Amino acid sequence: MPVRVEKVRIYRYDIPLKGEFRISFSSTVTSSGLIVELVGENGESGWGEANPAARILGSTLGTSKEALRHLAGLILGRELEPLELHRLLQTSLLGNGDAKAAVEMAFLDLWCKERGQPVYRCLGGAREEFVTDMTIGIKSIPETLEDARYYVERGFRELKIKVGEDPDRDVEKIRALREALGYGVFIRVDANQGWSPKQALRAARKLERYEIQLIEQPLPHWMLREHAELRRQTEIPIALDESVHTARDALEAVRLGAADVINIKITKAGGILEGFSITRISEAAGVANMIGCMVETRLGITAAAHLVGLSENIRYIDLDSDLSLQWDPVRGGVEHLGGGRRRLPREPGLGVRVDVERLKLLATVEERGGEAAL
Ligand SMILES: [Mg+2]
Repeated sequence: MPVRVEKVRIYRYDIPLKGEFRISFSSTVTSSGLIVELVGENGESGWGEANPAARILGSTLGTSKEALRHLAGLILGRELEPLELHRLLQTSLLGNGDAKAAVEMAFLDLWCKERGQPVYRCLGGAREEFVTDMTIGIKSIPETLEDARYYVERGFRELKIKVGEDPDRDVEKIRALREALGYGVFIRVDANQGWSPKQALRAARKLERYEIQLIEQPLPHWMLREHAELRRQTEIPIALDESVHTARDALEAVRLGAADVINIKITKAGGILEGFSITRISEAAGVANMIGCMVETRLGITAAAHLVGLSENIRYIDLDSDLSLQWDPVRGGVEHLGGGRRRLPREPGLGVRVDVERLKLLATVEERGGEAAL
């Protein structure tokens, strides 16, 4: 049975983080985003999250809200199946992956609730558990060591270290981490486009002795050829994140030999199904996948977790942002069993409940009667 959406509500959240989160090109102490509720004919609700990112997705809270209203206009009152919706989203609006992802996750939530199965099961997946890393933003070396020890004491065995400011200090930080932690912990680094090709080569050569799992997005996002060149010059695997949003980008990266690993985010891809397409292209090309997140609530993280449930090619997992929020409007969803071990929900749909009391209602869009803007 297809799903027919009769009403769309858009909410906003602003949630303080437990501490400042800094990467090479930005810093934040708050997560702000939008939650979308799709109401089906039977009165059931499906939930999705759009987390805009101006410098990665080109979206802001304002543009994402408009994109959601535009997409609401396309789907209201229509009977749709998931693949039809996927095509509609991908062909009727360029970019805006965060808004598309929000609509698709809410739709799949509804569609799978009707089928009485969790999203990953509904779509044929079988993987129920995974281990996430914990990300440490850019901080001083003593603060980084303190955070790393804190997480390792709590059982985390994979750390993602944000770098990309000064390459020499970045290398020094990794050296200090290895000295403090030994080699029993996996370390990956993410430069978030912060290095030039020469800086990246210099840093990579020095990092080779510290057993780094991978270097993520060392160069600016448009430098696919330069990433391919860097890959040939260092033995550390190179991962692309900001360079690859959709399946088409993944195909181009694979063609140019620009990546050992492609980091999928459903906010970049525009949903779980487009993310799944990236896993298929990557796997066929012998490229591994990572899955990552923005600074999202447990709603977006849970949707990404359902994608993990669909593919064994997703070998590196970075689904940790909900663990850094002071509060979360989402109940249920992907569980954290400790030490980075996470388990997919067993309830039908995404398996989340949203506490709307803690959100601000921005707009209600209905098939008839237009829109009540609040
Ligand atoms: Mg990244």
